[in-house]
Amino acid sequence: AEAAGGGDKEAVRAYFNSTGFERWRKIYGSATEGVNRVQLDIREGHAQTVAAALSMLRDSPLELAGTTVCDAGCGTGSLAIPLAAEGADVLASDISAAMVSEAQRQASLAQATAPGSTTFRMPRFEVRDLESLEGRYDVVVCLDVLIHYPREEAKAMIRHLASLADKRLLISFAPRTLYFDFLKRVGELFPGPSKATRAYLHAEADIEDALRQAGWRVANRGFISTQFYFAKLFEAVPVASSSS
Ligand code: SAM
Repeated sequence: AEAAGGGDKEAVRAYFNSTGFERWRKIYGSATEGVNRVQLDIREGHAQTVAAALSMLRDSPLELAGTTVCDAGCGTGSLAIPLAAEGADVLASDISAAMVSEAQRQASLAQATAPGSTTFRMPRFEVRDLESLEGRYDVVVCLDVLIHYPREEAKAMIRHLASLADKRLLISFAPRTLYFDFLKRVGELFPGPSKATRAYLHAEADIEDALRQAGWRVANRGFISTQFYFAKLFEAVPVASSSS
């Protein structure tokens, strides 16, 4: 069985408070100085995932203004901030204190520069691992986080996130296919410097399985790929409810 428990999580937390924070803040930022070609490509792919998530939510019957959203693993706030700008009531949380304070800083900047007419609603920020999130939200989003966790841990995370959501659950993950399996094996011949930089790809069937176990089904799918970035984006809804 793949290891569950503290090992991966503590390594991930430490990474995103140090070298991982610097690396990802740069990738998710807008400056181009000191950003290499691969990082720019990943920036572009990630921006497409964020845009796809936003349009899924805008296309849903939900009225974003006033909708409660939990962004689990919010990073620097790439999705939380545009949602806040549309008046959503956002909880932005992340396991990394460094990420949360960067997200907070960027949200303040966004609020300060928002046109007077917009209904920017400052998110609440919390340093917290998503496993310990509580409460109920209309929408739960979790983008590009599962890549840091092995299969069983990722599935448990999905079940927990589903238990927090009433109407929508948006999850992105790096898809596991034969080709990527191959690339990953090749990668393992040259292991990265730490466990936290390891990437876990997930089979769509595993993600759907976890959703099904939680009483959810996938209503919409997206696939985003650039040269170095690949993600599947699932929009899930509760099986028992209508589409809103
Ligand atoms: N969701 C953001 C986005 O798409 O812009 C950030 C993605 S970044 C690749 C992964 C983020 O997940 C990091 O900010 C990291 O600190 C956070 N993270 C990793 N494990 C987590 C956990 N167990 N609970 C909450 N956040 C976690």
